[in-house]
Amino acid sequence: MSLGGRRSVSGLRRPGWEFWRGLEIPLAYRISVPVATLVTVVFAIHLSVNDPQRLLLSQKRAQARRLGRIVQAIVTREMIAGQPKNVQEHLSPLRRSGGIERILVLDREGVVRYGNESSEVGRSYSMEGDPECTACHDRRGLLPAEDLVLRQQGGRWVFSYFFSLENAEACRRCHDPRQDSLGEVLLDIPLDDADGELLSVGRRLATSAFVLVVLAVVGIYAISRVLVQRPIRALLEATQRIEGGDFSPDFPRPRRDELGRLNRAFQRMAQRLGALVERQEKEIQRRTRELEESQRMLLQQEKLAALGRMTAGVAHEIGNPIGAILSLSEVIEGISDEAEVIAECQEIRAQVDRVSRLVHDLTDSARPHSGQNHCRLDESVQTARRVVRLEGPRSRGVDFDVDLEPAVVGVACEHLVQVFVNLFLNAVDAMDGEGRIRIRARSLEDAIEVRVLDSGPGVAPEAASHLFEPFFTTKEPSRGTGLGLWICYNVLQRWGGTIVLAPSEGRGAEFVLRLPLAKNPGDHHE
Ligand code: ADP
Repeated sequence: MSLGGRRSVSGLRRPGWEFWRGLEIPLAYRISVPVATLVTVVFAIHLSVNDPQRLLLSQKRAQARRLGRIVQAIVTREMIAGQPKNVQEHLSPLRRSGGIERILVLDREGVVRYGNESSEVGRSYSMEGDPECTACHDRRGLLPAEDLVLRQQGGRWVFSYFFSLENAEACRRCHDPRQDSLGEVLLDIPLDDADGELLSVGRRLATSAFVLVVLAVVGIYAISRVLVQRPIRALLEATQRIEGGDFSPDFPRPRRDELGRLNRAFQRMAQRLGALVERQEKEIQRRTRELEESQRMLLQQEKLAALGRMTAGVAHEIGNPIGAILSLSEVIEGISDEAEVIAECQEIRAQVDRVSRLVHDLTDSARPHSGQNHCRLDESVQTARRVVRLEGPRSRGVDFDVDLEPAVVGVACEHLVQVFVNLFLNAVDAMDGEGRIRIRARSLEDAIEVRVLDSGPGVAPEAASHLFEPFFTTKEPSRGTGLGLWICYNVLQRWGGTIVLAPSEGRGAEFVLRLPLAKNPGDHHE
């Protein structure tokens, strides 16, 4: 259970100190104000303990008391001896020694009975407006609690010390025993110039202490601004820049202290963070590209699958009437004697043969595979090469550069020769019979990757997205049907493989085939 020290009984927060919490106090203030306070307190304590004015006063007071006691002893002794006149004789020389300016022995009525100045004897002092009296006595005639009064007289500082003459036992023989005091003794001790100077030193000291404290505050403020506040602010600005995505902001100049270390550590952290963010951004871009590519391929596959189904259906439908046309033309040719009719029937058969081959190609590529799932990759490539060579002069100027990893042998793919024949013939056409076809194969984890690269002009960008569609061709009608790559695509797809056009990098066209590994190497089929 929380005691809720900062909450009032009603549970509401008390205002008051709350506003301090939101108040931002710069570091320089946080450092300089407590230090200044501390310096002030220490200085004040020091001054109060070693106050020169106080020390001077206590010294003078002791001196005055000593003299007072001497005067009292003289007066008392001579009085008891019945020689009051001797008092005056004893006091006169005191003027020249002991630094006493004036000694007055006054009776209870304020009349000077004895003094070190004989002219003063007999003078009467009154409380009523006599400045000599009012300097110590108040209006009612009472003396201040202090027996020592410091006053200025004619531009000089003078101590006035006074004490009552006690009506002692011995005195009562002559004096009225009911009286406590028989009079007063007053001593004036002037301060010399040095002492006067010392008195004003207090004020000067206080002033210089104040100036010193102000200077200390300003100095500490300036130092903490330069050494602490400024570098921290710069670090703060750098942090804000990093927050905004700039990972190489201007850091404060490195210093050889803790702040410098913090600065360097922060700089290293920012660099690592920047590198990490950059790596992650690249990774995101790569994955986005991959995602886009796989989406594109998925769409392409769906489109090709739909086209394949439609084409196979159409081909199947065409197949039957074609068979009928072929049989009928043979029948007509058999029963007719007319050379013209026979020639036309032969023409019909030639055209129907062409359509029939086309239909065969279409239906064949869409047909499910026979189940034999082992082809030797190297043999398929060699056979396809021989087939292309049989094309005669068309492929004579083409070099084959074949390099298959020795481990790459068995792949699961029927009609692989047909795939390579189509790819090689396309390359021969693109290079116009002059160039090089490079075939490379390497093992992947669960498949074999084959790359077929030619030295032709490459595929035009606008054609790239239509390459695997049936009947897409850029060749003349007599040279191309647009079914070659479509058949390759279907053959590989049936076996769980893929064929794609690699991004062009200023070279010729490069096709990348991914062939699944054969499950049962014993099931050999080419
Ligand atoms: P065809 O060869 O009958 O035109 P294909 O499906 O084999 O049909 O090829 C389709 C099109 O792809 C070709 O017309 C050609 O424009 C392009 N093509 C295929 N292979 C290459 C290649 N190696 N270099 C440049 N273009 C090619």
